Amino acid sequence: MTAPGHTSVKPRDGVAALADRWPLLGQHRSLVVYLCAIVALDLLAIGFFAVSTVFRWHDVLAFTALMACGAVCIEATRRLGMPAGVSRDLLSAWWLPVALLLPPVYALLSPIPLQILLQKRVRETVAYRRVFSSAAIGLAGCSASVLFHSVVGDLSALTTGAGVPILVAVGCAALFTVLNTALIAVAAHAAAPDSRWREVLWNRENLLLDVVELCVGILVAITCGLNLALLVLALPPVMLLQRSLLHAQLQAAARTDPKTGLLNAAAWQREADTEIVRARRTGETLALLIVDIDHFKRVNDTYGHLVGDQVLAGVASTIRSQLRDYDVVGRFGGEEFVVLLPRADVTEARRVAERLRSRIGRMAVPADDNLVTVTISAGVAIMSMHGDDLIELLAAADLALYQAKEMGRDRICLPAAVVPRPTGPGPRPPLAKPERP
Ligand code: GH3
Ligand code: MG
Ligand code: MG
Repeated sequence: MTAPGHTSVKPRDGVAALADRWPLLGQHRSLVVYLCAIVALDLLAIGFFAVSTVFRWHDVLAFTALMACGAVCIEATRRLGMPAGVSRDLLSAWWLPVALLLPPVYALLSPIPLQILLQKRVRETVAYRRVFSSAAIGLAGCSASVLFHSVVGDLSALTTGAGVPILVAVGCAALFTVLNTALIAVAAHAAAPDSRWREVLWNRENLLLDVVELCVGILVAITCGLNLALLVLALPPVMLLQRSLLHAQLQAAARTDPKTGLLNAAAWQREADTEIVRARRTGETLALLIVDIDHFKRVNDTYGHLVGDQVLAGVASTIRSQLRDYDVVGRFGGEEFVVLLPRADVTEARRVAERLRSRIGRMAVPADDNLVTVTISAGVAIMSMHGDDLIELLAAADLALYQAKEMGRDRICLPAAVVPRPTGPGPRPPLAKPERP
């Protein structure tokens, strides 16, 4: 299941004190409205279905057993921790059977105990995210439950092995996944309006996980429908899957810069080295860009570090959106980004750098009543022309960047010649050749 992660903005003056205690108030207004609407809808649905449900002891027992399995899974992976931001788990293995086997009110209630457990035992995050997650999962589960019960009247049909009920269960599980993903994606997009829908909605890795969740959820539902005690057999494999999924996510998080979602400096350097070795072996061209935000300190000084962080995230997202999938982008540190462009020659590298400069120059980040805009300067170095390994290319691009700053910023520069690495302190030589902005 997907869990959301939002960036925050500097709160407006009037609500600054309140926002310290209620972080939700520091978010974009559209995000606040959306989150409140989803939670209100969830509460309404709980009220509506609670009134119309007859609570039977067998249903309550099945619900408790499935929640207990979810709790055991959470406890078993607790020591691994949970990656920050949007993360995935396999708790659908327990939510889906609740939706398919029990009346819809149970699907609405099931995320609440597990989200409380996640908050208390695994990772404490701002409460509104947990509340929103519960509401989103609850509404998605409730929709799947209503659909399944209206199409398959006799719930024991799922355990007879007949094809139709199982196919309907697959369709309802898919509906559950699509709805939950869409509800979370709208929140992620409202929190970062510059992000692309494709990024917040789907990627190949998530699709594979969704399929795994769906299969595991239906298998557990059939097992549980056959005999509640069989949950004892279903629990260990699901627990193991959950552990390996978390482990993979934590490994990915260790390579990522949390503020921008780009590769961190160490991971970028490793990947860039691999690309350079490949380019040398195949004789292909390759370009390296260092991009630095101009006068970024002024943004922090004027609007505060939270807005500064949002500008960093916006620049990172713009850079990523303008490049090919196999270009290697990282945050080098502070307000500096590095880009490796495999198979790019000097013309292509200039074109890409110029496109980044113009797109970032047009980007606007809202802060208080203003829109914050920034410009960038970039240094470009080409393999074989300005250096033969990563250190030489970085040094060449860095010198070109220095020149771009000297020339007045908001421009792209290329080194004019093969660049020796600087050896001591003092000003760097003006070797770079400026491009007209
Ligand atoms: P120049 O045009 O010469 O690059 O000027 P600049 O102000 O961008 O460069 P300078 O090196 O003087 O300042 C960089 C600023 O970036 C200072 C530092 O506070 C800020 N910064 C570094 N990392 C972060 C971060 O993670 N978040 C925020 N908000 N600011 C950061
Ligand atoms: Mg700067
Ligand atoms: Mg800098």
